[in-house]
Amino acid sequence: MVITGKDMGKKGKVRFVYPDKNRLLVEHVNMIKRHARAAKQARQAGIIEREAPINASNVMLVCTKCNRSVRIGQRFLEDGSKVRYCKSCNEVLD
Ligand SMILES: [Zn+2]
Repeated sequence: MVITGKDMGKKGKVRFVYPDKNRLLVEHVNMIKRHARAAKQARQAGIIEREAPINASNVMLVCTKCNRSVRIGQRFLEDGSKVRYCKSCNEVLD
């Protein structure tokens, strides 16, 4: 869920994470219009709408079980992989 900016309150799935830039691409959030040039490889020309990445500090994770933004913790699984979990219901979110 987006907590600040023009898309405040919008919810969407995180489609892509840019860890080095601390940015996220969230579905249907921060839509921008791009003028696509009619290049040989392009399937369509004209104006296309797509998501632009937003700063990770502008979003909060929404727990699918609680259905609200929650405090997130991190813990390690038995196989050593790190997961995030909801601190209110303990549901693993990754
Ligand atoms: Zn929860």
